[in-house]
Parts: sequence; C-alpha cells; structure tokens
Amino acid sequence: MSTKYVFVTGGVASSLGKGIIAASLAKLLQARGLRVTIQKFDPYINIDPGTLNPYEHGECYVTDDGAETDLDLGHYERFLGVKTSKANNVTTGRIYHTVITKEREGAYLGKTVQIVPHITDEIKRRMLLLGKSGNYDVVVTEVGGTVGDMESQPFIEAIRQLQWELPDEDLISIHLTLVPYLRAAKELKTKPTQHSVQMLQQAGVHPDIIVCRTEKVLPEDLRRKVALFCNVKPGHVIQSIDAPSIYQVPLNMEEEKLDQMVLNHFGMKEVPEPDFTKLEQFLEKLQNPKSEVDIALVGKYVELQDAYKSILESFVHAGAANECKVNVHTIHSEYLDEENVAEKLAPMDAVLVAPGFGERGLEGKITAIRYARENKVPFFGICLGMQMCVIEFARNVLGIADAASAEVAPNSANPVIDLMDDQKSTTIKGGTMRLGAYGCHIEKGSLAYRIYGCEEISERHRHRYEFNSRYLEQMEAAGMKASGRNPETGLVEIVEIPSHPFFIGVQFHPEYKSRPEMPQPIFCAFVKAAIEFKANRK
Ligand code: GLN
Repeated sequence: MSTKYVFVTGGVASSLGKGIIAASLAKLLQARGLRVTIQKFDPYINIDPGTLNPYEHGECYVTDDGAETDLDLGHYERFLGVKTSKANNVTTGRIYHTVITKEREGAYLGKTVQIVPHITDEIKRRMLLLGKSGNYDVVVTEVGGTVGDMESQPFIEAIRQLQWELPDEDLISIHLTLVPYLRAAKELKTKPTQHSVQMLQQAGVHPDIIVCRTEKVLPEDLRRKVALFCNVKPGHVIQSIDAPSIYQVPLNMEEEKLDQMVLNHFGMKEVPEPDFTKLEQFLEKLQNPKSEVDIALVGKYVELQDAYKSILESFVHAGAANECKVNVHTIHSEYLDEENVAEKLAPMDAVLVAPGFGERGLEGKITAIRYARENKVPFFGICLGMQMCVIEFARNVLGIADAASAEVAPNSANPVIDLMDDQKSTTIKGGTMRLGAYGCHIEKGSLAYRIYGCEEISERHRHRYEFNSRYLEQMEAAGMKASGRNPETGLVEIVEIPSHPFFIGVQFHPEYKSRPEMPQPIFCAFVKAAIEFKANRK
C-alpha cells in the first residue's frame, strides 16, 4: 500500500491548537495499529527556532538527534510516544538554504531560480521525504501560520500541486478554523470560517474536512451551513470543543469520527478498532486527583505560557502518576529579592528554577534557591536552574562571594559555571550549543539513583556552559555532590545536596522526554516530595 499524506492547515486565528489536532489524528491512527509520523513546516526564515527568544514562538523543543525545533514536536512526541528528529521540522529558512546552496553548486545552471517551481519543488520533496522511507503508513504534515499569510503561500502552493500529483486517495487536506461565540448576540458565527476556506480555495487547495474550534457545541444546522458554503461533504464539518485537558482531544476527535473519515478517504477498510486503554487510564487519574500541591516555577519568561510548555506538561504527567493536582505558580525571577522571597515562596510546597539565557532575573533565581535550600523546601533546577544552584552554594555555603557564571561575567575570578572547552572557539550562534541526547552515569546511593533506579541514563541537552570541575572538590566537601557525570567527558550533569530532603539540579532537560503514559522520573519524584513536604507542614 502506498504511503498516505494528511495536510493540516489553519485559518482565522493562530493558537487554535493545530498541533494538538494534528497530533490527535496521528494518535487515533496509531491506536489502530498504523505506522504514523508527523512533521511541521514553519513559514519563518530562521533555519530553526534555536535562535528565537521564547516570547516569539514559545519554547524551543530539542530532539534526541540535537535538532532545535518548534514546540509542536513536543506535542507529537508526547501524544505518539515516538521520537522525532531533524527531519520532522522544516522552516522556510531551511528550504531556501537548500535551494540557494544548490544554486551556488550549479544545480540550476542557466536557469532563473524561482519560488515556483524551485522553492515549491523543495517543499514538496521535504513533504514526501518521511513517507519515502517506507517506515510509515501515514505522514501527517502540519503547516504553521494562518492561511492568507504571505509567508505560508509557498507551502499552500506545494499542497495544491501535490493534490494533482498524488492519487486522490493518497492525500487528504484538513482545515482548522475558529467559530467564535458572540456573547452579546448569544450566537456562534461561521463567517470567519467561510472566509478562511474561500481564501484556501482561491489558492487552489480544497479542504476535505473542516474542523471548527469552538467553545460551545456546534449544532447540526451550523455544520450543514459551513459545509454548504465551504463546498465540503455535509458530514465533513466537525467540532473541536474546548477540552479540560489536551489529552482529551484525541478521544473527542474519535467521537467526531475524524479518523474514520480519513480512513474512508484513503480507502483503508481493514483497519482494527483503536485501543485507548492507556490514554483512558491516564485521563482517569488526571481527572480524579486525591491530593493537591502548589509548586513555584521560577523563571523570566512567565508572561507566555508556551515558554515552559514541556515543563508544564511534565507536571501534568507527574501529577497524574501521583494522583495529585499540581498547581504550578509561575513566579517572575526579575521581581524576586531578599525582601519578598519568603512571602512569595512560603505558600509553595516545592520550587523549580527554570532554564534560560542571559543576565535578566538571575539574582532572583539565586534568591529563590537559597530560600529552598535553607528552608528544606523540595528543589529542582533545570539547566540554568542547576547552574544557579551551583552559584548559590558557592556564594552562600563556600563563601566565594563573587562566584558567577561566565555567561554573564566573562572575566569573573571565580567562574563556578564556565564555558565548555569546545565552545570557546565557537562564534556562530545557530545550532552550536551542546545539543541532543547524551549519556549520564549516575552514582549508586544518590537521590538521582533512587529516582531513576539505574546507573546509565540518557537525557537531552541545550547549553553552552557547564559546572567548572575545578570547584568540585570544595563543593563536595561542603555537601553538594556531583551524582551524575557524562561517562566520556566527565562533565557534571547532576548535582544534589544529600543533607536536604530533596535538592537536585540537572544540566539536561528532562522535561523533553516526559510522556503522559511514561512520566519523567525526576518530575514524579519531585511531585511526591512536594506532597510529603505539604503533609509535614505545621
Ligand atoms: N544559558 C545557559 C547555558 O547556555 C543555560 C541554558 C539553558 O538553560 N537551556 O549553558
């Protein structure tokens, strides 16, 4: 059987959850035993989102093979439980880079290189690439941006061409739109959807299914109206209603028969019924918590929820595993100081200090860590959060008052966090950090060993600076242990304070590998520690 391609575009507004719909459909097809992968095409000109501030597009997600990607790849991995790679996220920048490199090599000698056909050919090649591997029955492609944007036009044009080049039963196009509810008129409005589909059709792409994002139930007559005006089959207009959890969306889509419509279109009749046992078990626990904790997430990108997407999702998974509702309170590190730290952190059952870059908010992070260390509040530091707990310890326990990170104090006399050796000659910023999966050897008897239950682990990284091992002996003598090291280079990957009930800092990003059906061990243990801390409060 030939590989089947699903294209998901979006209209009316951004942030409708196109990634969730695409991932939900992929999940439904996977639950029926099909081999499914999913990829994202992003219309911006950056080669990858690695150089973007999280305020632009939210968190940068990192894959095992070290690609810095769009956060939707995180949803794909979490929903499908499979690993994605560099090939699963393509940007306009990457497309142009390939075409321009080929042009310089002389691949188009004598020809004018144009958007159509050269750029669109390269887009199509990438759209079909994963399917050509023979590893998948279905490839779901999400096109970023909103139909009508200048940037996404070449992608829409590529889908238009593919609609003619592939057999009808090998390609299906799904369009996600918004049907707003006007409170004053007490009405759901379909006009924006009609306009969005018109725009898509003007570009030559005909949607086979329209998914309407809505906060109220979309009644049958409105579905028929959308179908009539948008020229799709009456049954092919479905709703995606606001859900209490994103993990509920695959089940909602199944109820709307989205997978059935797609399979019918593909002529796939002999596909087994889906098995959702594990997802349902997860949702059952998520929706029926037996306890509740308050956890502080101290960071500087707190205004934007998406900036810490994977961390927030990891708490959802770890919360369900502990049958506990985790209330995450984001606390702006820039406004945290000695004066207000107790007031802000005293109500918390645990403190997580987030990853990040640059100087802004660093001192607030250090203040939060000192509070957690001295008051024996469970503490978990990730990447920059780990680096700051090393600085806090050096300053306040070892008495090295000017201990600093070379990232913000390049001439510091005591760089307890220093630039990694192989970073010293790096001048290019894009894609040059220590990225992707690295092994870590855990010392037996440590907190990390009790958490992971094994000595060899692998986690994903994204950083340039490291624990400066020149200070290791002093640190260990004073009570901060390096319990995890890279087996090849000896880089310190995990630090902990054994005299504290739960104090751990990790140089890697464990949040990237947490899944609803396979929650990340440190997050699980951290939530458990928060539950215990709360129980022992006076
Ligand atoms: N800025 C720090 C570094 O580059 C930490 C990075 C991070 O938190 N992801 O090492």
